[in-house]
Amino acid sequence: MSNAAAYAVSAPDGRFEKVTIERRELGPHDVLIDVKYAGICHSDIHTARNEWRGTTYPCVPGHEIAGLVAAVGSEVTRHQVGDRVGVGCMVGSCGHCEPCLAGEQQYCLNGVVWTYNTAVPEEQQAGGHTLGGYSTQVVVTESFVLSIPEGIGLDVAAPLLCAGITLFSPLRHWNAGPGKQVAIIGMGGLGHVGVKIAAAMGAEVTVLSHSLSKEEDGRKFGAHHYYATKDRDTFKKLRGSFDLIINTVSAELPIEQYLRLLKLDGSLVALGLPETPYSINASTLAGFRRSLSGSMIGGIPQTQEMLDFCAAHGIGAEIEVISADQIDAAYDRVVASDVRYRFVIDASTI
Ligand code: NAP
Ligand code: ZN
Repeated sequence: MSNAAAYAVSAPDGRFEKVTIERRELGPHDVLIDVKYAGICHSDIHTARNEWRGTTYPCVPGHEIAGLVAAVGSEVTRHQVGDRVGVGCMVGSCGHCEPCLAGEQQYCLNGVVWTYNTAVPEEQQAGGHTLGGYSTQVVVTESFVLSIPEGIGLDVAAPLLCAGITLFSPLRHWNAGPGKQVAIIGMGGLGHVGVKIAAAMGAEVTVLSHSLSKEEDGRKFGAHHYYATKDRDTFKKLRGSFDLIINTVSAELPIEQYLRLLKLDGSLVALGLPETPYSINASTLAGFRRSLSGSMIGGIPQTQEMLDFCAAHGIGAEIEVISADQIDAAYDRVVASDVRYRFVIDASTI
């Protein structure tokens, strides 16, 4: 076992404090990673504040991890000391169920081991649950460690490990590309990366943001159109316009209004995970054969494909690098939608 420094929160309304945590002994297939950067995802906030219930404290969030390999177990073949690597939302799955065999580990039937807040009684993790990337070091089994291509900085790559794959996966699944009208609701951490990726895939991209305050940025990221959803006319103008609408909003939305923006056979994909359930009428789905679906991050092979795609297209996240003692303030700013567009913790400050 080795010690690492980390930032942990001990209660739903607690503040982050520096702590020392234990990382497991390197097993034959384990990789020890010196964390360089850890992104702050809105899911970290939902979890740290127990908004989804079920948070075990102390909680060390962080599932957008970029760093360098510091040591490898005796049988590791995929990574070497010094490699640029990343870890996303998952650090384990059963490996033999149908989704795992299909490379969709995030849908493992026997339970995903999430990067933080998953009970791992067999491991000697402090408190018996996984602890995430707001930390100087992590130990992860090699098959859940991604390679970060040269050409993307580790700082702007970190958010791709969650925000990037969470958008890339549904964009691929629902065939975003030339001739497809794609709308992205919410241009925050997830949304802004989604705009870049969807545009790089060749789709015609519209941002549906609550105001026009970020329009100039949206167009720089590749959006072709940009509308404010607080303007009632937006919903009249855009009725029946989109093949695919991706909802990244972390709060409750009047989802029926957005469903009506779909073309015949269009799909609205739920990515944002508010505390409250959606409320919709069956007739809204029946009309125009609309679909309401969801998507959860993406599998390990697709995460590597996403990183390679982003490197090839020069895509990284737009970030604001902070020191670890600024995490609480950063959380408040994310909740207030005051982030351009992802906070990333410089792990050397932990
Ligand atoms: P974020 O950076 O806070 O972005 C969310 C965006 O939603 C904001 O920038 C804002 O965009 C919009 N928004 C926020 N509050 C709103 C409100 N009250 N009304 C209307 N719009 C509002 O969060 P994120 O990190 O991108 O995460 C977004 C959500 O996705 C969270 O719920 C997170 O837990 C979830 N998530 C899901 C997955 C998955 O696999 N499905 C993965 C990661 C995260 P505008 O200013 O442009 O309106
Ligand atoms: Zn996330």
